[in-house]
Amino acid sequence: MIVVMGPQHTPADRAAVVREIEVAGLRVHISEGVERTVIGVVGDSHTKELLHESLEAMPGVERVVRILQPYKLVNREFHAGQDSTVRVRDVAIGGGRVVVIAGPCSVESPQQVASTARAVQAAGARLLRGGAFKPRTSPYSFQGLEEWGLQILAEAREDTGLPVVAEAMDARQLELVVKYADMVQIGARNMQNYTLLRDAGRAGHPVLLKRGPSATIEELLLAAEYIMSEGNPNVVLCERGIRTFEPSTRFTLDLAAVPVLKGLSHLPVVVDPCHSSGKWKLVAPMARAAVAAGADGLLVEVHPEPDQALSDGPQQLTPQHFTALMAEVSAVALAIGRRV
Ligand code: PEP
Ligand code: MN
Repeated sequence: MIVVMGPQHTPADRAAVVREIEVAGLRVHISEGVERTVIGVVGDSHTKELLHESLEAMPGVERVVRILQPYKLVNREFHAGQDSTVRVRDVAIGGGRVVVIAGPCSVESPQQVASTARAVQAAGARLLRGGAFKPRTSPYSFQGLEEWGLQILAEAREDTGLPVVAEAMDARQLELVVKYADMVQIGARNMQNYTLLRDAGRAGHPVLLKRGPSATIEELLLAAEYIMSEGNPNVVLCERGIRTFEPSTRFTLDLAAVPVLKGLSHLPVVVDPCHSSGKWKLVAPMARAAVAAGADGLLVEVHPEPDQALSDGPQQLTPQHFTALMAEVSAVALAIGRRV
């Protein structure tokens, strides 16, 4: 349920509404829009129903609206219909600019990360990514450099100033990622690990939440709701391809998810054209399309020597190809009134 306060309401009107809600044992989330203030109400449905009429009669209240979707805090209506912005250090995701997150699939060595970080920064990337804990299909594949990998990423941040994104798959890894990185990635395979989602909510760092390969859009939004319900509003959604019957790409990039998500939620949406396609030649065309579809950012894997990579070699770009991609997506962004 949301309580929309009219343009003329006073601070006292608002305080009275908040008190009425809290006394009933419900929680409030206030969003200041350009024209109106929205007070989101979460908690027991029956209590909300009982409160509906009395809230509607209070001074300053324009209307009270039931939110029918099961996700509330991520709901666009809860945010006065406006896009939210997630800050990762000095980088804002979800503003007018398209933010490109780039770096290797796996952290492999200090040299590999340092050279990649400098190259992607020179090409215009604003955040550095790298996996220190890798969710591999086979237990015999390279599993990541763990804490050393995170230290390597932190050194690259010292060197370039680029904030760092890294994945955590459990609570122990989460503690380490929070210690060294600036944003926590919850990977596709863990999108419905509800304990981890709650832990990430409590950890407080901004979260990059990737859509599960078989998850619906509603399930993705409910996963984000888990994080937000623990008091962490800084969630960025990532479309990274879903499992379909089509074998010519690794997954099928669901580009319609971008406008659909942005219509349903206020959260920023980024697109990963690498894990979805699985082939580096498809990365630039899908990155261009993602920006044209309204994505707030891109997640791109870059490796100095993709054919030597310890994971995801076929889908990683060389720094040269990444530089070319950046020029192309910049042109697309300009065409729709945005910039990279
Ligand atoms: C990744 O981004 O490193 C990754 C493993 O992606 P996903 O969880 O989308 O497969
Ligand atoms: Mn990868």
